[in-house]
Amino acid sequence: MALTVRPGILDIAPYVGGESSLAGQGRVIRLASNEGALGASPQAVEAYRQAAATLHRYPDGGATRLREAIGRRFGLDPAAIVCGAGSDELIGLLTRAYAGPGDEVLYSRHGFLMYAIAAQSVGAVPVSAPETDLTADVDALLERVGPRTRIVFLANPNNPTGSYLPAAALRRLHEGLPPDVLLVIDAAYAEYVGRGDYEPGSTLVAAHDNVVMTRTFSKIFGLAALRLGWAYCPPAVADVLNRLRGPFNVPAPAQAAGVAALADTGHVERARAHNDRWLPWFRDALAGIGIASNPSVGNFVLVHFPAESGADAAAACEFLNQRGIIPRRMGAYGLGDWLRITIGLEEEMRAVVDALTAFADQGSLSTVQGRGGR
Ligand SMILES: *Cc1c(COP(=O)(O)O)cnc(C)c1O
Repeated sequence: MALTVRPGILDIAPYVGGESSLAGQGRVIRLASNEGALGASPQAVEAYRQAAATLHRYPDGGATRLREAIGRRFGLDPAAIVCGAGSDELIGLLTRAYAGPGDEVLYSRHGFLMYAIAAQSVGAVPVSAPETDLTADVDALLERVGPRTRIVFLANPNNPTGSYLPAAALRRLHEGLPPDVLLVIDAAYAEYVGRGDYEPGSTLVAAHDNVVMTRTFSKIFGLAALRLGWAYCPPAVADVLNRLRGPFNVPAPAQAAGVAALADTGHVERARAHNDRWLPWFRDALAGIGIASNPSVGNFVLVHFPAESGADAAAACEFLNQRGIIPRRMGAYGLGDWLRITIGLEEEMRAVVDALTAFADQGSLSTVQGRGGR
C-alpha cells in the first residue's frame, strides 16, 4: 500500500519566495523579499560571529536573554513572549494548535500567503474575505466568521498591499469575534509605520485571551537569514506554543544577534528614516513617469502595470530583470497586474526608476506605433 498523506497537504501550492539571482547576471538588485535596505546592525553581525565559538553547545531552549531584551525594548512581559524560527514558524504553530481538519482559517483577500499554507497544512479550510481598496475590510471579515472559524490572521500592515488598519478598526474586528476565535495580528512591518492611529496589537493582546501579535527580525532588523521571530501571547497561548515548539527551535547565533540588534536602536532609527525618505521619493518618481502605485506604510510598494496598457506586469518584470533588478511577481496573490518592489538603497531605487522610465518610454512608443499602423 502506498503512503497516504494527510488531507489538505497536496492542495498546498508551495510558497515560492522572491528570486535572489538572475541567469547570466552577476550583481543583481534584490527587491523581491522586503529585506531591510540597510542590512543588519554591525553589532548584531559581531554577536553572530562571537557565537561561532560555542557552536557545539545547544542553544538556550527558552531564549531567555532574547525574550528579556524584547520585553525591555517593547515594554512587554518576557513570560508572554515565545520566540520562533521566523514568525513563519509561529504562524504554523498557532495554526497547528488551534485549527484542524474541517475548521476554517480566515484572512483578507490579498493577505500574506503563509496563512493559507498554514491552514492547508493542518487540513483546515482557508477562507478569504474581500478587501476594499486593497485594504482589509473589517465588515467583510466579520461576515465570513462562522461556527467553523478558528483563527483570523491579519497582517497589519499587510504584505503585499502595504495598507493597514488603524487601531480603532482592529479593536472593532476583535469585538466582533466570538471569544473562541483566535485573532493573530502579524505586525512584521510595525517598526516602519509612522502613523499616529496605528498600534501593532500589544494593547489588544494584553487585554484579551484570544489575541496574539507576531513580530519578526527579518525586516527592519535586517536578520532574515537567521530566521528569528517572536509572538506576544496571552498566558494560555504562550503555554500552548511552548509545548508545541521544538525544544531548541531558535539557534544560538540567532538569539545572540537578536539581542544585539535590539540594543542598536540607532540602526533601526536609520533604517526607518531611510524608508521614510525613499519610499515617498520612489512613489513620486513613478507618478512622474505615469506609473501608479498603492500607498504603503511598509518597506515595499505595489506598482501597477495594467494588463490593457500593453505594458503589463510580466513585461515590466522582464524589462527589470534584463537590467539586473528583481521585483516580486504578484500572480500568487491574485494581483497579476502588479509588481511588489522593496525599498532598497538610494542607488538601487534610482536604478529602478531609470529602468522603469525606459520601460514607460518604450511602452508609449509602441502604443503610438500601434495606433499609426492601424
Ligand atoms: C516577511 C513577513 C513575515 C516574516 O516572516 P519571517 O518568518 O519572520 O521571516 C511575516 N509576515 C509577513 C506579513 C511578512 O511579510
